[in-house]
Amino acid sequence: MTSAAFSTAEIAVVGGGIASTAAVLRLRRTGHSPLWIAPAQKEGNLSGEHLSPAARPMLEEIDAAGLLGAAYHRPEQSVFSAWGSDQLAERSGIVHLEGPGTVLERAAFERDLRALAVASGAGPVEAQLIGLDRNGDGWVLEVDDGDRLGRCGARFVLDGSGRAAVVAGIQAPDHAARFRADKLVALCAVLSQEKNAGVEPTRATLLETVPEGWWYATLLADGRLVLNFYTDPDLLPLEVTRHADVFRAMLERTNYVGRWLRDAEFNLDAPPELASAGTTWLAPATGEGWAAIGDAAAAFDPLSSHGMTTALWTGIKGADAAVARLGGDAEPLTEYAEKVGQGVQEFLQSRAALYAEERRFSTSPFWIRRTGNCDAQS
Ligand SMILES: Cc1cc2nc3c(=O)[nH]c(=O)nc-3n(C[C@H](O)[C@H](O)[C@H](O)COP(=O)(O)OP(=O)(O)OC[C@H]3O[C@@H](n4cnc5c(N)ncnc54)[C@H](O)[C@@H]3O)c2cc1C
Repeated sequence: MTSAAFSTAEIAVVGGGIASTAAVLRLRRTGHSPLWIAPAQKEGNLSGEHLSPAARPMLEEIDAAGLLGAAYHRPEQSVFSAWGSDQLAERSGIVHLEGPGTVLERAAFERDLRALAVASGAGPVEAQLIGLDRNGDGWVLEVDDGDRLGRCGARFVLDGSGRAAVVAGIQAPDHAARFRADKLVALCAVLSQEKNAGVEPTRATLLETVPEGWWYATLLADGRLVLNFYTDPDLLPLEVTRHADVFRAMLERTNYVGRWLRDAEFNLDAPPELASAGTTWLAPATGEGWAAIGDAAAAFDPLSSHGMTTALWTGIKGADAAVARLGGDAEPLTEYAEKVGQGVQEFLQSRAALYAEERRFSTSPFWIRRTGNCDAQS
Protein backbone atom coordinates (compact mmCIF):
# COMPACT_ATOMS: atom_id res chain seq x y z
CA MET A 1 0.00 0.00 0.00
CA THR A 2 1.38 3.46 -0.95
CA SER A 3 0.82 6.69 0.94
CA ALA A 4 -0.39 10.00 -0.42
CA ALA A 5 -1.32 13.47 0.78
CA PHE A 6 -4.94 14.55 0.45
CA SER A 7 -6.14 18.09 0.91
CA THR A 8 -6.76 20.26 3.95
CA ALA A 9 -9.80 22.35 4.85
CA GLU A 10 -11.31 24.33 7.69
CA ILE A 11 -13.93 21.63 8.34
CA ALA A 12 -13.74 17.89 7.65
CA VAL A 13 -17.00 15.91 7.41
CA VAL A 14 -16.64 12.15 7.99
CA GLY A 15 -19.23 9.72 6.54
CA GLY A 16 -21.36 9.31 3.44
CA GLY A 17 -24.81 8.90 5.05
CA ILE A 18 -27.67 11.37 5.41
CA ALA A 19 -26.16 13.30 8.35
CA SER A 20 -22.82 13.92 6.65
CA THR A 21 -24.36 14.72 3.29
CA ALA A 22 -26.76 17.21 4.91
CA ALA A 23 -23.78 18.82 6.68
CA VAL A 24 -21.82 19.04 3.43
CA LEU A 25 -24.81 20.55 1.61
CA ARG A 26 -25.34 23.07 4.40
CA LEU A 27 -21.65 24.06 4.31
CA ARG A 28 -21.64 24.37 0.51
CA ARG A 29 -24.88 26.40 0.54
CA THR A 30 -23.32 28.82 3.06
CA GLY A 31 -20.11 29.32 1.09
CA HIS A 32 -17.74 26.80 2.72
CA SER A 33 -15.59 24.07 1.18
CA PRO A 34 -15.42 21.09 3.55
CA LEU A 35 -13.13 18.12 3.18
CA TRP A 36 -15.58 15.22 2.80
CA ILE A 37 -14.36 11.73 3.71
CA ALA A 38 -17.12 9.46 2.45
CA PRO A 39 -16.78 5.76 1.57
CA ALA A 40 -18.62 4.74 -1.62
CA GLN A 41 -22.31 4.02 -1.08
CA LYS A 42 -23.14 0.38 -0.21
CA GLU A 43 -24.63 -1.60 -3.13
CA GLY A 44 -28.11 -3.08 -2.76
CA ASN A 45 -30.96 -2.33 -0.36
CA LEU A 46 -30.61 0.10 2.52
CA SER A 47 -32.76 -0.30 5.64
CA GLY A 48 -35.08 2.45 6.88
CA GLU A 49 -37.64 3.92 4.53
CA HIS A 50 -40.16 5.84 6.65
CA LEU A 51 -39.29 9.52 6.44
CA SER A 52 -41.19 11.58 9.00
CA PRO A 53 -43.00 14.69 7.74
CA ALA A 54 -40.81 16.63 10.21
CA ALA A 55 -37.91 16.05 7.81
CA ARG A 56 -39.36 18.13 4.98
CA PRO A 57 -38.51 21.59 6.40
CA MET A 58 -34.95 20.41 6.97
CA LEU A 59 -34.66 19.18 3.41
CA GLU A 60 -35.98 22.58 2.32
CA GLU A 61 -33.19 24.29 4.30
CA ILE A 62 -30.61 22.50 2.14
CA ASP A 63 -32.64 22.82 -1.11
CA ALA A 64 -33.22 19.07 -1.25
CA ALA A 65 -37.00 18.73 -0.66
CA GLY A 66 -37.52 18.28 -4.42
CA LEU A 67 -35.93 14.82 -4.13
CA LEU A 68 -39.09 13.53 -2.42
CA GLY A 69 -41.05 13.99 -5.65
CA ALA A 70 -39.20 11.12 -7.42
CA ALA A 71 -41.48 8.32 -8.63
CA TYR A 72 -39.57 5.68 -6.65
CA HIS A 73 -40.81 7.20 -3.36
CA ARG A 74 -44.47 7.22 -2.27
CA PRO A 75 -46.51 9.21 0.23
CA GLU A 76 -47.21 7.21 3.35
CA GLN A 77 -50.80 6.04 3.69
CA SER A 78 -52.46 4.22 6.59
CA VAL A 79 -50.61 2.52 9.42
CA PHE A 80 -52.38 -0.51 10.89
CA SER A 81 -51.16 -1.79 14.16
CA ALA A 82 -51.83 -4.74 16.47
CA TRP A 83 -49.89 -3.25 19.36
CA GLY A 84 -51.28 -3.74 22.84
CA SER A 85 -54.36 -5.55 21.48
CA ASP A 86 -55.30 -8.59 19.38
CA GLN A 87 -57.27 -6.28 17.10
CA LEU A 88 -55.68 -4.63 14.06
CA ALA A 89 -56.45 -0.91 14.31
CA GLU A 90 -55.57 2.06 12.14
CA ARG A 91 -53.19 4.04 14.23
CA SER A 92 -50.78 6.39 12.51
CA GLY A 93 -49.79 7.97 15.87
CA ILE A 94 -47.64 4.98 16.77
CA VAL A 95 -45.13 5.96 14.12
CA HIS A 96 -45.44 9.74 14.10
CA LEU A 97 -47.67 12.48 15.39
CA GLU A 98 -47.48 15.07 12.60
CA GLY A 99 -49.37 13.32 9.78
CA PRO A 100 -48.24 11.37 6.75
CA GLY A 101 -44.62 11.11 5.77
CA THR A 102 -42.87 9.50 2.79
CA VAL A 103 -41.97 5.88 2.13
CA LEU A 104 -38.56 6.16 0.49
CA GLU A 105 -36.61 3.95 -1.84
CA ARG A 106 -33.82 4.53 0.63
CA ALA A 107 -30.78 3.68 -1.52
CA ALA A 108 -32.06 5.95 -4.31
CA PHE A 109 -32.71 8.78 -1.83
CA GLU A 110 -29.16 8.60 -0.44
CA ARG A 111 -27.73 8.39 -3.96
CA ASP A 112 -29.73 11.48 -5.05
CA LEU A 113 -28.76 13.44 -1.92
CA ARG A 114 -25.09 12.63 -2.54
CA ALA A 115 -25.42 13.68 -6.20
CA LEU A 116 -26.88 17.00 -5.02
CA ALA A 117 -23.88 17.54 -2.73
CA VAL A 118 -21.48 16.72 -5.57
CA ALA A 119 -23.37 19.10 -7.88
CA SER A 120 -22.95 21.82 -5.23
CA GLY A 121 -19.17 21.47 -5.66
CA ALA A 122 -18.26 18.96 -2.94
CA GLY A 123 -15.93 16.17 -4.04
CA PRO A 124 -15.99 13.21 -1.66
CA VAL A 125 -12.69 11.47 -0.84
CA GLU A 126 -13.85 7.83 -1.05
CA ALA A 127 -11.96 6.56 1.99
CA GLN A 128 -12.28 5.45 5.62
CA LEU A 129 -11.02 7.53 8.51
CA ILE A 130 -8.57 5.29 10.37
CA GLY A 131 -6.75 7.72 12.66
CA LEU A 132 -6.98 11.22 14.10
CA ASP A 133 -4.37 13.32 15.90
CA ARG A 134 -4.39 16.76 17.41
CA ASN A 135 -2.07 19.16 15.57
CA GLY A 136 -1.89 22.57 17.25
CA ASP A 137 -5.50 23.81 17.29
CA GLY A 138 -6.44 21.52 14.38
CA TRP A 139 -6.37 17.87 13.35
CA VAL A 140 -4.42 15.46 11.18
CA LEU A 141 -6.76 12.83 9.77
CA GLU A 142 -5.43 9.50 8.51
CA VAL A 143 -7.47 7.90 5.76
CA ASP A 144 -7.40 4.65 3.81
CA ASP A 145 -8.95 4.48 0.33
CA GLY A 146 -8.20 0.79 -0.14
CA ASP A 147 -5.09 1.42 -2.29
CA ARG A 148 -3.41 4.26 -0.47
CA LEU A 149 -3.04 5.62 3.03
CA GLY A 150 -3.24 9.40 3.20
CA ARG A 151 -3.21 12.33 5.59
CA CYS A 152 -5.52 15.34 5.57
CA GLY A 153 -5.78 18.41 7.75
CA ALA A 154 -8.76 20.26 9.23
CA ARG A 155 -9.50 22.64 12.10
CA PHE A 156 -12.87 21.09 12.99
CA VAL A 157 -14.24 17.57 12.42
CA LEU A 158 -17.93 16.66 12.03
CA ASP A 159 -18.33 12.94 12.71
CA GLY A 160 -21.19 11.42 10.70
CA SER A 161 -19.82 7.87 10.74
CA GLY A 162 -23.08 6.39 12.07
CA ARG A 163 -23.19 3.97 14.99
CA ALA A 164 -19.41 3.47 14.63
CA ALA A 165 -18.91 7.04 15.99
CA VAL A 166 -15.26 6.80 14.97
CA VAL A 167 -14.08 10.25 16.04
CA ALA A 168 -15.24 9.87 19.64
CA GLY A 169 -13.87 6.33 19.60
CA ILE A 170 -10.41 7.36 18.41
CA GLN A 171 -10.07 10.75 19.99
CA ALA A 172 -12.23 11.12 23.04
CA PRO A 173 -12.93 7.75 24.66
CA ASP A 174 -12.31 9.32 28.08
CA HIS A 175 -14.35 12.47 27.50
CA ALA A 176 -17.50 11.32 25.71
CA ALA A 177 -19.22 8.12 26.85
CA ARG A 178 -21.43 6.00 24.59
CA PHE A 179 -24.65 5.08 26.43
CA ARG A 180 -27.05 2.34 25.49
CA ALA A 181 -30.70 1.85 26.46
CA ASP A 182 -31.10 -1.57 24.81
CA LYS A 183 -29.53 -4.04 22.39
CA LEU A 184 -32.35 -4.09 19.81
CA VAL A 185 -31.51 -5.78 16.51
CA ALA A 186 -33.46 -5.99 13.25
CA LEU A 187 -33.93 -8.91 10.89
CA CYS A 188 -34.46 -7.22 7.50
CA ALA A 189 -35.83 -8.71 4.28
CA VAL A 190 -37.18 -7.31 1.02
CA LEU A 191 -39.83 -9.48 -0.64
CA SER A 192 -41.17 -9.59 -4.18
CA GLN A 193 -44.70 -10.49 -5.17
CA GLU A 194 -45.42 -13.64 -7.20
CA LYS A 195 -45.25 -12.64 -10.90
CA ASN A 196 -48.87 -13.35 -11.83
CA ALA A 197 -50.41 -12.65 -8.45
CA GLY A 198 -54.00 -11.54 -8.88
CA VAL A 199 -53.95 -9.35 -5.77
CA GLU A 200 -53.14 -5.64 -5.60
CA PRO A 201 -51.16 -5.37 -2.34
CA THR A 202 -52.33 -2.74 0.13
CA ARG A 203 -50.17 0.37 0.52
CA ALA A 204 -50.58 0.30 4.27
CA THR A 205 -47.85 -0.16 6.83
CA LEU A 206 -48.41 -2.96 9.32
CA LEU A 207 -47.07 -3.28 12.87
CA GLU A 208 -47.64 -6.35 15.02
CA THR A 209 -46.23 -7.33 18.38
CA VAL A 210 -45.37 -10.88 19.48
CA PRO A 211 -43.80 -12.07 22.76
CA GLU A 212 -40.26 -11.86 21.31
CA GLY A 213 -40.53 -8.39 19.70
CA TRP A 214 -42.42 -6.68 16.90
CA TRP A 215 -42.94 -6.96 13.15
CA TYR A 216 -43.03 -4.15 10.61
CA ALA A 217 -44.05 -4.45 6.97
CA THR A 218 -44.47 -1.75 4.35
CA LEU A 219 -44.85 -1.61 0.60
CA LEU A 220 -42.31 0.33 -1.48
CA ALA A 221 -43.49 2.39 -4.47
CA ASP A 222 -42.12 -0.26 -6.90
CA GLY A 223 -44.27 -3.01 -5.34
CA ARG A 224 -41.57 -4.75 -3.28
CA LEU A 225 -42.28 -5.23 0.41
CA VAL A 226 -39.95 -4.40 3.30
CA LEU A 227 -40.30 -6.84 6.19
CA ASN A 228 -38.43 -6.29 9.46
CA PHE A 229 -38.55 -8.08 12.79
CA TYR A 230 -37.19 -6.31 15.86
CA THR A 231 -35.96 -8.31 18.84
CA ASP A 232 -33.00 -8.76 21.18
CA PRO A 233 -29.91 -10.73 20.10
CA ASP A 234 -30.37 -13.42 22.77
CA LEU A 235 -33.94 -14.06 21.55
CA LEU A 236 -33.00 -14.70 17.91
CA PRO A 237 -33.76 -18.23 16.73
CA LEU A 238 -30.67 -20.23 15.76
CA GLU A 239 -29.59 -19.94 12.10
CA VAL A 240 -32.26 -17.36 11.25
CA THR A 241 -29.84 -15.40 9.07
CA ARG A 242 -28.79 -18.60 7.25
CA HIS A 243 -32.08 -20.31 6.42
CA ALA A 244 -35.18 -18.52 5.11
CA ASP A 245 -37.30 -21.37 6.57
CA VAL A 246 -36.52 -20.23 10.11
CA PHE A 247 -37.83 -16.73 9.32
CA ARG A 248 -40.88 -18.23 7.56
CA ALA A 249 -41.67 -20.28 10.67
CA MET A 250 -41.56 -17.11 12.78
CA LEU A 251 -44.01 -15.45 10.36
CA GLU A 252 -46.39 -18.38 10.76
CA ARG A 253 -46.76 -17.50 14.43
CA THR A 254 -48.12 -13.99 13.71
CA ASN A 255 -51.83 -13.18 13.51
CA TYR A 256 -51.69 -10.62 10.70
CA VAL A 257 -48.31 -10.09 9.01
CA GLY A 258 -47.86 -13.68 7.82
CA ARG A 259 -51.43 -13.85 6.52
CA TRP A 260 -51.06 -10.52 4.72
CA LEU A 261 -47.93 -11.70 2.90
CA ARG A 262 -49.49 -15.07 2.03
CA ASP A 263 -52.73 -13.51 0.73
CA ALA A 264 -50.84 -11.01 -1.45
CA GLU A 265 -48.44 -13.79 -2.59
CA PHE A 266 -45.17 -12.28 -1.43
CA ASN A 267 -42.22 -14.68 -1.48
CA LEU A 268 -39.44 -14.79 1.07
CA ASP A 269 -36.63 -16.11 -1.12
CA ALA A 270 -33.59 -15.40 1.01
CA PRO A 271 -32.85 -15.33 4.73
CA PRO A 272 -33.01 -11.91 6.42
CA GLU A 273 -30.00 -9.70 7.15
CA LEU A 274 -29.19 -8.67 10.70
CA ALA A 275 -28.67 -5.00 11.68
CA SER A 276 -28.11 -3.16 14.96
CA ALA A 277 -31.12 -1.02 15.79
CA GLY A 278 -30.83 -0.14 19.50
CA THR A 279 -31.03 3.24 21.17
CA THR A 280 -27.49 4.51 21.84
CA TRP A 281 -26.05 7.98 22.26
CA LEU A 282 -22.89 9.91 22.98
CA ALA A 283 -22.75 12.28 25.94
CA PRO A 284 -21.63 14.91 25.34
CA ALA A 285 -22.03 14.84 21.55
CA THR A 286 -19.24 17.40 21.08
CA GLY A 287 -15.65 17.96 22.20
CA GLU A 288 -12.80 20.36 21.55
CA GLY A 289 -12.68 20.74 17.77
CA TRP A 290 -15.27 18.06 16.91
CA ALA A 291 -18.98 17.29 17.00
CA ALA A 292 -20.90 14.08 16.32
CA ILE A 293 -23.90 14.22 13.96
CA GLY A 294 -26.59 11.67 13.02
CA ASP A 295 -26.40 8.19 14.54
CA ALA A 296 -22.88 8.95 15.77
CA ALA A 297 -24.50 11.48 18.15
CA ALA A 298 -27.73 9.58 18.92
CA ALA A 299 -29.20 6.47 17.29
CA PHE A 300 -32.83 5.63 18.05
CA ASP A 301 -34.99 2.50 18.06
CA PRO A 302 -36.62 2.62 14.56
CA LEU A 303 -40.08 2.54 16.19
CA SER A 304 -39.69 6.31 16.34
CA SER A 305 -39.07 6.85 12.59
CA HIS A 306 -36.76 9.53 14.00
CA GLY A 307 -33.37 8.45 12.62
CA MET A 308 -33.26 10.21 9.25
CA THR A 309 -34.88 13.36 10.65
CA THR A 310 -32.30 13.50 13.43
CA ALA A 311 -29.56 12.88 10.87
CA LEU A 312 -30.76 15.87 8.81
CA TRP A 313 -31.23 18.15 11.83
CA THR A 314 -27.87 17.33 13.41
CA GLY A 315 -26.09 17.58 10.03
CA ILE A 316 -27.44 21.09 9.44
CA LYS A 317 -27.12 22.39 13.02
CA GLY A 318 -23.75 20.70 13.56
CA ALA A 319 -22.40 22.39 10.41
CA ASP A 320 -23.69 25.80 11.55
CA ALA A 321 -22.18 25.31 15.03
CA ALA A 322 -18.80 24.29 13.57
CA VAL A 323 -18.68 27.43 11.41
CA ALA A 324 -19.58 29.61 14.41
CA ARG A 325 -16.93 27.90 16.56
CA LEU A 326 -14.22 28.57 13.97
CA GLY A 327 -15.40 32.18 13.89
CA GLY A 328 -14.82 32.44 17.67
CA ASP A 329 -18.40 31.86 18.92
CA ALA A 330 -18.63 28.69 21.06
CA GLU A 331 -22.27 29.22 22.13
CA PRO A 332 -24.01 27.43 19.19
CA LEU A 333 -21.88 24.34 19.80
CA THR A 334 -22.84 24.27 23.48
CA GLU A 335 -26.51 24.70 22.53
CA TYR A 336 -26.19 21.96 19.93
CA ALA A 337 -24.85 19.46 22.50
CA GLU A 338 -27.62 20.41 24.95
CA LYS A 339 -30.35 19.96 22.33
CA VAL A 340 -29.02 16.55 21.32
CA GLY A 341 -29.04 15.54 25.01
CA GLN A 342 -32.60 16.86 25.45
CA GLY A 343 -33.78 15.05 22.31
CA VAL A 344 -32.41 11.78 23.71
CA GLN A 345 -34.23 12.24 27.03
CA GLU A 346 -37.52 13.10 25.27
CA PHE A 347 -37.14 10.08 23.02
CA LEU A 348 -36.49 7.76 25.98
CA GLN A 349 -39.74 8.93 27.58
CA SER A 350 -41.86 8.41 24.46
CA ARG A 351 -40.16 5.04 23.83
CA ALA A 352 -41.06 3.89 27.36
CA ALA A 353 -44.68 5.06 26.89
CA LEU A 354 -45.03 3.22 23.55
CA TYR A 355 -43.62 -0.06 24.85
CA ALA A 356 -45.78 0.24 28.00
CA GLU A 357 -48.88 0.15 25.77
CA GLU A 358 -48.20 -3.54 25.16
CA ARG A 359 -49.29 -5.37 28.34
CA ARG A 360 -50.09 -8.81 26.96
CA PHE A 361 -46.54 -10.18 27.20
CA SER A 362 -45.65 -9.16 30.74
CA THR A 363 -43.57 -12.30 31.35
CA SER A 364 -41.57 -12.03 28.12
CA PRO A 365 -37.95 -10.77 28.48
CA PHE A 366 -38.24 -8.48 25.42
CA TRP A 367 -41.13 -6.51 26.93
CA ILE A 368 -39.90 -6.67 30.54
CA ARG A 369 -36.61 -5.06 29.41
CA ARG A 370 -38.48 -2.13 27.85
CA THR A 371 -41.16 -1.53 30.41
CA GLY A 372 -39.11 -1.90 33.59
CA ASN A 373 -36.57 0.72 34.65
CA CYS A 374 -34.36 1.25 31.63
CA ASP A 375 -31.25 2.79 33.17
CA ALA A 376 -28.73 3.74 30.52
CA GLN A 377 -25.44 1.90 30.67
CA SER A 378 -22.12 2.76 29.06
C1 LIG B 1 -33.39 -1.69 10.50
C2 LIG B 1 -33.46 -0.18 10.58
C3 LIG B 1 -34.60 0.49 10.17
C4 LIG B 1 -34.67 1.87 10.24
N1 LIG B 1 -35.81 2.50 9.84
C5 LIG B 1 -35.87 3.85 9.86
C6 LIG B 1 -37.02 4.51 9.37
O1 LIG B 1 -37.98 3.89 8.90
N2 LIG B 1 -37.03 5.88 9.42
C7 LIG B 1 -35.98 6.61 9.93
O2 LIG B 1 -36.03 7.85 9.94
N3 LIG B 1 -34.87 6.00 10.38
C8 LIG B 1 -34.79 4.64 10.35
N4 LIG B 1 -33.66 4.02 10.79
C9 LIG B 1 -32.54 4.83 11.29
C10 LIG B 1 -31.77 5.51 10.16
O3 LIG B 1 -31.48 4.58 9.14
C11 LIG B 1 -30.48 6.14 10.72
O4 LIG B 1 -30.81 6.93 11.82
C12 LIG B 1 -29.75 6.98 9.67
O5 LIG B 1 -29.30 6.15 8.62
C13 LIG B 1 -28.56 7.70 10.30
O6 LIG B 1 -27.83 8.34 9.27
P1 LIG B 1 -26.29 8.68 9.51
O7 LIG B 1 -25.86 9.46 8.32
O8 LIG B 1 -26.11 9.29 10.84
O9 LIG B 1 -25.55 7.28 9.60
P2 LIG B 1 -25.36 6.13 8.53
O10 LIG B 1 -26.48 6.06 7.58
O11 LIG B 1 -25.03 4.91 9.33
O12 LIG B 1 -24.07 6.57 7.70
C14 LIG B 1 -22.79 6.47 8.27
C15 LIG B 1 -21.78 6.74 7.19
O13 LIG B 1 -20.48 6.79 7.78
C16 LIG B 1 -19.59 5.99 7.01
N5 LIG B 1 -18.49 5.56 7.87
C17 LIG B 1 -18.50 4.62 8.87
N6 LIG B 1 -17.26 4.52 9.38
C18 LIG B 1 -16.47 5.40 8.72
C19 LIG B 1 -15.09 5.74 8.79
N7 LIG B 1 -14.25 5.13 9.64
N8 LIG B 1 -14.63 6.69 7.94
C20 LIG B 1 -15.46 7.32 7.06
N9 LIG B 1 -16.77 7.04 6.95
C21 LIG B 1 -17.26 6.08 7.77
C22 LIG B 1 -20.47 4.87 6.47
O14 LIG B 1 -19.88 4.26 5.34
C23 LIG B 1 -21.72 5.67 6.10
O15 LIG B 1 -21.54 6.29 4.86
C24 LIG B 1 -33.56 2.62 10.74
C25 LIG B 1 -32.40 1.96 11.14
C26 LIG B 1 -32.35 0.57 11.08
C27 LIG B 1 -31.08 -0.12 11.52
